[in-house]
Amino acid sequence: MSALHERDLVALQAGLAAGEFSAEELAAELLARAQASQGELNALVTPAPERAAAQARAATGPLAGLPILHKDIFCTQGLRSTCGSKMLGEWVPPYDAGIVQRLDAAGMVTLGKTNMDEFAMGSSNETSHFGPVRNPWDLSRVPGGSSGGSAAAVAAGLAPVATGSDTGGSIRQPAALCGITGIKPTYGRASRYGMIAFASSLDQAGVFARSARDAALVLETMSGFDPRDSTSADAPVPRYSEQLDQPLAGLRIGRPAEFFAAGLDAQTGARIDEALAVLESLGATLVDISLPRMEHCVPVYYVIAPAEASSNLSRYDGVRFGHRCADPQNLDDLITRSRSEGFGREVQRRITIGTYVLSQGYYDAYYLQAQRVRRLICEDFDRAFEQVDVIAGPTTQAPAFGLGAKTEDPVAMYLNDIYTIAANLAGVPALSTPAGLVDGLPVGLQLIGPAFTEGRLLNVAHQFEQATGHHQLRPDYTPGGAQ
Ligand code: GLN
Repeated sequence: MSALHERDLVALQAGLAAGEFSAEELAAELLARAQASQGELNALVTPAPERAAAQARAATGPLAGLPILHKDIFCTQGLRSTCGSKMLGEWVPPYDAGIVQRLDAAGMVTLGKTNMDEFAMGSSNETSHFGPVRNPWDLSRVPGGSSGGSAAAVAAGLAPVATGSDTGGSIRQPAALCGITGIKPTYGRASRYGMIAFASSLDQAGVFARSARDAALVLETMSGFDPRDSTSADAPVPRYSEQLDQPLAGLRIGRPAEFFAAGLDAQTGARIDEALAVLESLGATLVDISLPRMEHCVPVYYVIAPAEASSNLSRYDGVRFGHRCADPQNLDDLITRSRSEGFGREVQRRITIGTYVLSQGYYDAYYLQAQRVRRLICEDFDRAFEQVDVIAGPTTQAPAFGLGAKTEDPVAMYLNDIYTIAANLAGVPALSTPAGLVDGLPVGLQLIGPAFTEGRLLNVAHQFEQATGHHQLRPDYTPGGAQ
């Protein structure tokens, strides 16, 4: 029998049912592994051994006793929720996020909270107040971001699954760079209640897992209407885990020329070409398509996301939440110093850009213009989905880069999400599935579908896994081995 940290949800469920180990033993073993890895990976901000033990003892429900880690952007009652920031460094929420409530109700056991870029702003997990996360495939490299802790943890076997959030790529990009599966569902599919806001028209909760089946099980459990989120979709959630075995014969897969243009690393491109050939051999038809406004996605995103962030983050004023400066002289001083001390450099940069593009005199030129181009990008997708069922391409331009390689160049960092941002702007579901290795490092195949086709994307990913076995590739990582 394989070690507990190597097993997927289905195997763990079978072991629990057979009485091979208890939910408490499982949680304790994974938490010990997480602790042993912490000095190298720094994947967790807050382990939760007591909450885990209590949940493991009491667990009932369809996913009873199965462990999960939550990105530290999700509020957890009585367990500090930092969003990777000094601003919320000691904040303990009085309530659970909507998705946390649903996963708890299904019997899942929260092992702890994972490290992330501050307020989910970043692509490398290097903007975290709690220090960078390292990639278990190569400790000198980043795991991607902003959900870097969740991705590194699942890849390193600290938990079989973890939650994440994706505003411009923060689930798919780290999933690709860590060699695991990551899905961002349709905007509105999973509740944003209690998910600390970054850019509200783009933010979406999702899942990391080591297989499409595990991702399906968690996603179908955490999704669904929540009246406490005004943009939550009031639509039934299909059983994604029961749609995985459909054959791909007749499926039309679009290959957008813009995803294979300049900037794509040759070897990464070769893995994606091989992946498309596999899908073809499974009966799918490849169709050349175009998403002509792709080049505008990064500029549009870096107007809209900072604009919404500057508004959302105005609530951190030193009065109501989080960090407060010492000895304020007056109200202005209290707000200015609390924010200057509480927010890191990247967050301050985003607030400054966002305030600028929303200011009178510039609003029409930047924010309104960006919203217009966003509509055109949505229309590109509408046109493409008249011709094809799924769009496929690379998740990133290249495998994981080295720590520090892009921290001094914000634009180089922003370009990491060049293939992922479009799905957020259009609100459509997208996932990254392992597509093999480049020089020993994983890369991901991205699949994008029309709204509410998560089941089909997971079905394609599952069939691809069965044909290639890429999802079974694991980093050669032993906690504590590098110390
Ligand atoms: N890397 C992008 C950013 O920095 C996306 C982050 C995300 O999806 N949360 O904004």
